[in-house]
Order: sequence, then structure tokens, then C-alpha cells
Amino acid sequence: MLDGPDEPRDRADARRQDGARWRPLRCRRRRSRAVGSRHGGLRGGGWAEEISLGVEFLLIREITGLAARGPERIVTLAETIDVSTRTVVIATGVSYNRLEIDGLDGLLGKGVFYGAATAEAPAFAGRHVFVIGAGNSAGQGAVHLARYAASVTLLMRGASPTMSDYLARQIERASNIQVRLNTELLRVHGRRRLEAVEVNDRLRGTAESLPGSALFVFIGAGPHTSWLEKTLQRDENGHILTGRHVVRGATGVPTWDEAREPYVLETSLPGVFAAGDVRHNSPRGVAAAVADGAIAIRSVREYLGH
Ligand SMILES: Cc1cc2nc3c(=O)[nH]c(=O)nc-3n(C[C@H](O)[C@H](O)[C@H](O)COP(=O)(O)OP(=O)(O)OC[C@H]3O[C@@H](n4cnc5c(N)ncnc54)[C@H](O)[C@@H]3O)c2cc1C
Repeated sequence: MLDGPDEPRDRADARRQDGARWRPLRCRRRRSRAVGSRHGGLRGGGWAEEISLGVEFLLIREITGLAARGPERIVTLAETIDVSTRTVVIATGVSYNRLEIDGLDGLLGKGVFYGAATAEAPAFAGRHVFVIGAGNSAGQGAVHLARYAASVTLLMRGASPTMSDYLARQIERASNIQVRLNTELLRVHGRRRLEAVEVNDRLRGTAESLPGSALFVFIGAGPHTSWLEKTLQRDENGHILTGRHVVRGATGVPTWDEAREPYVLETSLPGVFAAGDVRHNSPRGVAAAVADGAIAIRSVREYLGH
């Protein structure tokens, strides 16, 4: 989402190139512009609200660049169109690695979740849940879920976890987390909701059905930030650093050298904010992304002096 009084520098050219597709939807007030999904849609059906709030949609444009020119932020769309603005909110999300398992897609949101442990955990208080994955996200998810669920079974395909030691120790100490190594998911069962998972013990070669209410999948996710490599500070996995995670006086990467501290979702480039899954330390999930969006917009308004 871009906000500011400036018009796109070469908007006339863009109109010529794109013809009718470039025309914005009608809206009541033209206060801000949203750059939509590169797949051509916004999830969640929030169009009506955004239009009534005065957002102008410039759809089906992949953002390919971000640069600073004094106080201006220049966003490049589809490598051809530059838009000049004063603030930017980046909410480009992540791509989750998907599990190709029979029946899994039919139970998405009905007990099967990708990376949404924080938001969904309270709904599974007192139930039995599964977490699949061996890395830090899986470990953090399991520890968080164990605060609510009666028991958590962590399924790992390999012979050992790849998560940090401190998380492995937390899991060892938790009385309601059970770890099953060398275990792969074969299929999921459930008509309206998840009821059981079928797993294979890879050492013994035996299959087993385990009842449970939810399966949280943490098998890796990559943020859509390759286009920001030289512009913003990112963590080792490519998530954008914001707020207190932004490094002052960093070498080799763009650094924060403002006298003030960054806003909580502000990146290492003043006036540029990151919200949702794409930012470092995001709790992940729809609820967290929506909350981030609200916080980021509030900061944008403060930044612009509204
Ligand atoms: C299969 C599946 C099931 C899930 N189920 C749940 C669930 O039940 N509950 C839950 O809370 N969460 C669930 N999640 C996670 C949830 O979808 C995300 O946490 C949430 O959508 C994050 O919102 P976001 O705005 O950060 O990113 P996204 O919703 O991923 O939106 C990012 C958008 O930016 C676009 N984009 C990326 N790069 C660019 C670019 N360069 N230029 C222009 N556009 C770009 C993407 O195409 C995408 O449309 C699920 C995820 C998956 C994959």
C-alpha cells in the first residue's frame, strides 16, 4: 500500500501501455493506493471496506523494486512503472512449502493449518494436536500449542530436530509434548474436520492411525523479499527486520541512521513498513497479519504527521 500526495511519475505512460486495465476502481476519496496481489486478487473479500475507505487499487502488478530518493520512496511495478510516494507498507507474505498428502487440502482450515499456531491455539484447548516439522517454527509452534492443548505430538521425518537447542530443551521439559522421530505423514482422515492422521514409522516400516483435532504444518516458508535484498535489512531467512530488530550502524547492509527509533513495524528505510508474514518474528496467520496492517497504517499516519 502506498500513501502520499504524489502522482505516479509516468502515469500517463502507464495508461498508454496498459490501456483500460490501469484504470482505478471508483472510490469515494483518493487518499491511498493499494498495489494488489501479483496473482490478481486480494484474499478475504475485503474489497468493499477498502473501496469505502478510499483505497485506489492498481491491480495485477508485481512490485519489483524499491528505492529512496531523499524523502521520496520509489516503488517500481513490473520493472517498468515507477511510483513516487512518501510511505510504503510491504505485505508480500511468504510461500509455504506444501505437503502433498491425500485428503489434506480438503481439510484446510478445518483442523489443518499452515503456520497459524499462534492464532489457532486457543481453539484447541484441551484437545490433542499434531505439529509437523523439525525446525524452529515447528518447535515454537509446538511450545505455544502446548499451553492450550491437552497434548501435542511433534512429527519429524528425520532422525533429529534441526531447531535451536533452547527450543529442543523447552520441548524436552514440556510434559505434554511428545516427539516422534523418523515419522512421516501418510494421510489425514476426517469428514467435516480432521479426526486422525495416519503416520509411518520409517525405521520399523509400520503404519499407525493417531486420533487428533488439528495438524499444524511447519515445513518451511520463504518470504517474498528477493527484490529488497539491497534496500532493506532482512534476517538470515529473508524476512524483513522491523522496529527494535532494525540494526543501527550496520555494515554491508542499508543502515538506520535516524535520531529517532523506528516505529514498531518500520523497516530500516524510514517511511517503509512491513506487515504480516513477511516481517521478521511475525506470529504468522490471518489474525496477526490483519493486526499488523492496522498498526502499520496507524504508524504511516503518524509518520506523515496526520
Ligand atoms: C494453504 C494455507 C492455509 C492456511 N490456513 C490458515 C488458517 O487456517 N488460519 C490462519 O490464520 N492462517 C492460515 N494460513 C496462513 C495465512 O494465509 C497467512 O498467514 C496470511 O495470509 C498472511 O497474510 P499476509 O498479508 O502477510 O500475506 P499473504 O496473505 O500471503 O499476501 C501476500 C500477497 O502479496 C502478493 N505478493 C507477493 N510478492 C509480491 C510482489 N513482489 N508484488 C506484488 N504482490 C506480491 C502475494 O501474491 C499475496 O497475494 C494458511 C496459509 C496457507 C498457504
